[in-house]
Amino acid sequence: MAEHLAFNYMLKSILIQDDRKEPVGRGFKSLWAHSTMKSKMQKSDTEWKTCLSPEEYRILREKGTETPFTGKYYKNKKKGMYICAGCGAELFPSDTKYESGTGWPSFWKPAKKENVETKPDNSLFMQRTEVLCKKCGGHLGHVFDDGPEPTGKRFCINSASLNFKEKKSK
Ligand SMILES: [Zn+2]
Repeated sequence: MAEHLAFNYMLKSILIQDDRKEPVGRGFKSLWAHSTMKSKMQKSDTEWKTCLSPEEYRILREKGTETPFTGKYYKNKKKGMYICAGCGAELFPSDTKYESGTGWPSFWKPAKKENVETKPDNSLFMQRTEVLCKKCGGHLGHVFDDGPEPTGKRFCINSASLNFKEKKSK
């Protein structure tokens, strides 16, 4: 019961605020923009579900893995930038992509160190390091120490977590 009342109170205070300033829709949006500026992008599961495909949602938000050799980018050799399918952050430039033979797009270095985040992942009885998009917290894949020089890293990334911005040569 107490929860119910607290929720009602919260709802009321939001609506009152919106009455004072602007229409409900815009009120929510500015609230959201404010939280984005402060730290990470905050979206509810429902919001993510409306802006991602079911496969993208399963991988980015539920830490799924796409079946190897099925993704849209593992064979892509075009020049350009791989960006986050969730928020558009620049993640991996095509010139750090290489053929790893795993069936997932593989890179030896992110575009910018501050655009990705890594976390220990001990699920599935393995010790791995998860790679996430720092801006939206989306799951991208894992990073391993068997990559090529100069970094020796293999960022093993799901195609579904990525979009590709092709660089057109003039
Ligand atoms: Zn992102």
